[in-house]
Amino acid sequence: MTHLVLVGGGHAHALALRGLALDSEPGLRITLVAPERHSPYSGMLPGHVAGLYSHEAMHIDLERLAEAARAEFVRARAIGFHGAEKRIALDTGENLSFDIASIDIGITPDRDAIAGAREHALAVKPIGSLMPKLEALFAEIRRADGPRRMLVIGGGAAGTCLAFALRRRLRREAPDGRIEVALATAEEITPEINATARFFLRRALRRAQITLHEHSPIARIDETGGHDEHGRHIAADAVLVASHARAPGVLAEGDLARTPDGFLAIEPDLRVGGQEAIFGVGDCATMGAHPRPKAGVFAVRQGPALRRNIRALVRGEALTPHIPQKDWLMLIADSEGRAVASRGSGFAFAGRLPWLVKDHIDRKFMALFDSANLTTRS
Ligand SMILES: Cc1cc2nc3c(=O)[nH]c(=O)nc-3n(C[C@H](O)[C@H](O)[C@H](O)COP(=O)(O)OP(=O)(O)OC[C@H]3O[C@@H](n4cnc5c(N)ncnc54)[C@H](O)[C@@H]3O)c2cc1C
Repeated sequence: MTHLVLVGGGHAHALALRGLALDSEPGLRITLVAPERHSPYSGMLPGHVAGLYSHEAMHIDLERLAEAARAEFVRARAIGFHGAEKRIALDTGENLSFDIASIDIGITPDRDAIAGAREHALAVKPIGSLMPKLEALFAEIRRADGPRRMLVIGGGAAGTCLAFALRRRLRREAPDGRIEVALATAEEITPEINATARFFLRRALRRAQITLHEHSPIARIDETGGHDEHGRHIAADAVLVASHARAPGVLAEGDLARTPDGFLAIEPDLRVGGQEAIFGVGDCATMGAHPRPKAGVFAVRQGPALRRNIRALVRGEALTPHIPQKDWLMLIADSEGRAVASRGSGFAFAGRLPWLVKDHIDRKFMALFDSANLTTRS
């Protein structure tokens, strides 16, 4: 039996494991290691914050998925990756030996990138611990004298969607409905979308009465709000940081090849450089030959490619390269039933239709992991 160990229940692993559940590989024994039973789907997180989706709707049940793939689910956190010894150390004190391994453990917030962030701000990642922190904030906001001014730091897709979501949710939670939301970003808003889409997005932010501070890199956070590098002060009672992520420190524990900024250095066939039987996927890995931003769309596309290459390795066949797409559809929802769509340098669209498309894509993705859709073929 070949023992495959999947470390982390990110998007890429969830899809690869689903593929192995539907079409099992003879002679393959699988173990999935993840610290939590439920893995959040970030595309629906802002909708969940806004109150549009339930907790169940946006979480993949990894235990159920593992069961469908006849895999063992080990609830633990990996603390070391030892390629030469074919061993993964877990925080339970156990060591897992493997023939093939894959690592999909996401990214982690860099809490020290902004002075005072640890003491005075909430971090978006890890997503699993964000909701309890937000629930505590909502409870304070329900008080007549509770906080009313919110600052979101980070104008990428995640921070922007969250600013919209918080605006909707906080207005409902505050007894007087008087909520101010500001969004600060180091560059212009969502540099990854095209100029027309950015125009639509700025308009949507204005319509939602979210104050946008572009070219305002926040250097310090204190109890009064954020202070940017140019000396501007953005007053806030609560701050959420959706910027400054870094590679998980645990990737340095062991002997796997890493990029200068600490991510797993992977080849186009998704294997970690210099490793015959260890893959790296999702945000925790960087393909030096084809670098892309850290985004779920790439992790999702890697899932089926990873499954194919695992199968090829088991069968002693040649592995195939997976070159990430050069442009992709970005959908930024305003939590009010509209969204802005952007693809490449030319396509931009705003309104109800992109929201319906986004909602459809997200629900369809999550439906893949419903029990009814995990029935095995072999
Ligand atoms: C609010 C928000 C909205 C977003 N919206 C979009 C969007 O619309 N489109 C888009 O493309 N991207 C979006 N993103 C980015 C997207 O979330 C990530 O790119 C995507 O989740 C990466 O998936 P992944 O496979 O790397 O794993 P992740 O989803 O990051 O999951 C990693 C998993 O590994 C587990 N793990 C961590 N450490 C360990 C360990 N030591 N041992 C074992 N397991 C571990 C974690 O518990 C986690 O479940 C958004 C992000 C946020 C925060």
